[in-house]
Amino acid sequence: MVVTRFAPSPTGLLHLGNARTAIFSYLFARHSGGKFILRVEDTDRERSKKEFEEVILEDLKWIGLDWDEFYRQSERFDIYGKYIEQLLEKGYAYPCFCTEEELERERRIAELRRVPYRYSGKCRNLSEREVERLKAEGRPYTIRFRVPDGRTVVFEDLIKGKIAISVDDFGDFIIVRSDGSPTYNLAVVIDDALMGVTHVLRGEDHISNTPKQILIYEALGFEPPKFAHLPVILGPDRSKLSKRHGAVSVSSYREEGFLPEALFNYLCLLGWSPPDGEREIFSKEELIEIFDLKDVNRSPAVFNLEKLRWMNGVYIREVVSLERLYEVALPFLREAGYRVDNEAYVKRVLQLTRDSYETLRDMVDRLRPFFVDRVDVPDRLTQLLREMEATRVFEKVVENLDGADLSSPEKVREFVRSVVKDTGLKPRQVWHSLRIALTGEEEGIGVDILLSVLPKDRIRLRLEEAISCLR
Ligand code: GLU
Repeated sequence: MVVTRFAPSPTGLLHLGNARTAIFSYLFARHSGGKFILRVEDTDRERSKKEFEEVILEDLKWIGLDWDEFYRQSERFDIYGKYIEQLLEKGYAYPCFCTEEELERERRIAELRRVPYRYSGKCRNLSEREVERLKAEGRPYTIRFRVPDGRTVVFEDLIKGKIAISVDDFGDFIIVRSDGSPTYNLAVVIDDALMGVTHVLRGEDHISNTPKQILIYEALGFEPPKFAHLPVILGPDRSKLSKRHGAVSVSSYREEGFLPEALFNYLCLLGWSPPDGEREIFSKEELIEIFDLKDVNRSPAVFNLEKLRWMNGVYIREVVSLERLYEVALPFLREAGYRVDNEAYVKRVLQLTRDSYETLRDMVDRLRPFFVDRVDVPDRLTQLLREMEATRVFEKVVENLDGADLSSPEKVREFVRSVVKDTGLKPRQVWHSLRIALTGEEEGIGVDILLSVLPKDRIRLRLEEAISCLR
């Protein structure tokens, strides 16, 4: 059975790139009828924060992922201890008493010589007596993995193909910190092995860790999983997508009014190409059906905000049901302080306007005239209304409002035509005057839509206010 996992470190918000890793791992497991595990990698006590874990879990759920098993590494320290003992006993690992200052000096020398840094191996061959003495002195120590000399680790990556890395690139590395906590490379191996993970999908920035992990697998006598390193996501300037490019966390897209189903769909297209070419809009169920690692691209994908906005607009406009749109829109409308107690009214507004915004944040601005009692008309536009002889329009509309049929945008257009005729003003002038009085702005949602939805008493109120302003 296929078993995949997503293993976030709670040291920051969920980055779009990591969300994509989670989605691919999820799709691959679900596609194969396998298991998807979520594992919080919080062994780094200094950098891990509970708040980050909470937001990450919330964002993963929000985007539509569910998991079959959940683990937190900080609750598994007892398990790691046994394997650390085993590695020490068999000589695969050794305690290292080098101090931070000593190591820093080694690093600086490497830098000056312009060679890649590797641990000197100073503590590699300490005698047992020496180790006992240093421990008795209470000297803090880390535990290092003893990397076999001259080895080149080779593995077959499911996306990148064959990868070969010489151990000379890294040297003996730390597997247990001086506070006794296992480092990422150690905990990840023990966990993936014990949890039966068959496929490790993760960002290609982890490729350099993979040979270290393979060596640990061998030392512990575990079978390594298959690895699939996903290409990085780049910003528009082709450097790795980061904060410099703007918002990169899932939470910020959520707050900006992106729909989880649209973000899910969009992230899938970053680095994966659907087998049937042209199509771009896919539901989660369809993606589970067709997702395959062989369609993951080797080269990096470029994040394109415009495209994501476009796709979000498509979801708002035509993919999600009105019921769903109402559900996601409501919190945004509420937060803006709009009155949304009349469900039928809100739904009618959404139905008639959903083709005119790409995010729920934009929606809030666009829909203001539908949900506030009065609007402010700035002086500049009041002046414009005067020049357009708008009072005549407003008086005519107010006069005929009770009997007017404004039940649909078509009916509204009919009604406004009669106003044009009665006043003898130009159609453009009439429409523009109405827009300004009803919205306080010069552009926005169609006035025909607005008039067909706004309750007549609100229309009257706004027009009467405009009339008195113009006096
Ligand atoms: N905790 C690691 C990270 O967040 C996981 C890497 C992996 O999937 O092995 O980058």
